[in-house]
Amino acid sequence: MAGSKYGSDMDRDIISCSFCGKSEYEVPRLFSGVNCYICIDCIRTAYGVVAEEEKVSRKRKMRSIKPSSVITPHEIKERLDEYVEGQDEAKIALSVAVYNHYKRVFSDLPADDTEITKSNILMLGPTGSGKTLLAQTLARILDVPFAVGDATNLTQAGYVGEDVENILLNLIIAADYDIERAKVGIVYIDEIDKITKKTENVSITRDVGGEGVQQALLKILESTVANVPPKGGRKHPNEECIKIDTTNILFICGGAFDGLDEIISARVEDKKFGFDADVMSAREKHSGAYFHEALPEDLMKYGLIPEFIGRVPVTVALDKLDCDALVNVLTRPKNSLVRQYVKLLKMDGVDLRFEDDALRAIAEKALERKTGARGLASIIEDCMRKVMYDVPSEKEIKECIITKECITEGKQPTLIYKKSSKAASHSSLKFNDVGPATGATSA
Ligand code: ADP
Repeated sequence: MAGSKYGSDMDRDIISCSFCGKSEYEVPRLFSGVNCYICIDCIRTAYGVVAEEEKVSRKRKMRSIKPSSVITPHEIKERLDEYVEGQDEAKIALSVAVYNHYKRVFSDLPADDTEITKSNILMLGPTGSGKTLLAQTLARILDVPFAVGDATNLTQAGYVGEDVENILLNLIIAADYDIERAKVGIVYIDEIDKITKKTENVSITRDVGGEGVQQALLKILESTVANVPPKGGRKHPNEECIKIDTTNILFICGGAFDGLDEIISARVEDKKFGFDADVMSAREKHSGAYFHEALPEDLMKYGLIPEFIGRVPVTVALDKLDCDALVNVLTRPKNSLVRQYVKLLKMDGVDLRFEDDALRAIAEKALERKTGARGLASIIEDCMRKVMYDVPSEKEIKECIITKECITEGKQPTLIYKKSSKAASHSSLKFNDVGPATGATSA
């Protein structure tokens, strides 16, 4: 489009917006393109049109996550497999629960007497077993907003701490303040096992830390129009709050539930005699070994109130990750740590390989630390730090091999230099002129 130029009796032509025709004297700013001009007002108008269109297309997309026509429980499980290692039972339970949830949300059937209750989820699993990752991955698969909240930061109304509504603010922010989108999002509430009440017997005075918070959460877990303080923190009496209906928000609560095992095993083994009892006690006793058999009565004994348990009807147990599983976590998921480091070094032209022994050593170290897969990142980071520091300035390095000793004895990785390199002689890093290590993993 040609930019308009007025003929004028002044020294030069007056330029004008090619879209609205206003001259450079009528608008605050004018930008030039190839043979055309656009004024700031037209940019604003165009931006408004595009933003509105995007909003509409997001809404359309949301409708298109209608699980019955788009994504089945099988498909959800397959997608989860790409990012989360193991935990098959949990993945199946989650796939069904999430499918049912969104089927209920987007149902075209006219309302009748049969009301499908909301299937909020309770995940029981040791630290670093993938609870947060599962919830986050589900949100990614379904392309809905996702927020994480920590139950230990919450208090019941009237006490010092965060109101439960703050969890919803994170979801609204994740949805870019698009309330319609936030209304069908997923919220993960971590450390739910830390808000249990102290004793199983109902006390006359409510304990602030536990039962009170569970009570406060009940409302948002079910359906309410919550008033969310826009800036977070405590609500102020005169503050204009954001209103959001929580009916279609899926809440996934999770916790490590240390000690729940003993409660379940006492119940389970109580009912078994002789031969059966031996079988049960021979079972590996680790945190979470009995989680698959958890019943509402066990959760009640643990300190969750019955009303709260009723609001999270789907209970999902996650396994503790053993050494083999941790090695798989390191290498198999789409964005596994090993793949990420391989990619990072590839960008500097270096092939990174982890020997099999090294991967096992990393997994064993994480097991010792009792932090599940959560500990893997810092172990690799410790081992890779110096290499990551040196590689960008050592252009002659072509290969980096992580051996078991790098993990167990803190040795530096083995570096192989390009043939012509003189760098080896003055490198501060170990030089080992070995061929490619066998059995090493590069991605
Ligand atoms: P949790 O919530 O159970 O304590 P997270 O989901 O936060 O644990 O996991 C901590 C870290 O470990 C994350 O970086 C995650 O990528 C990784 N991780 C944990 N479990 C798995 C798993 N089953 N598969 C792949 N990665 C995992």
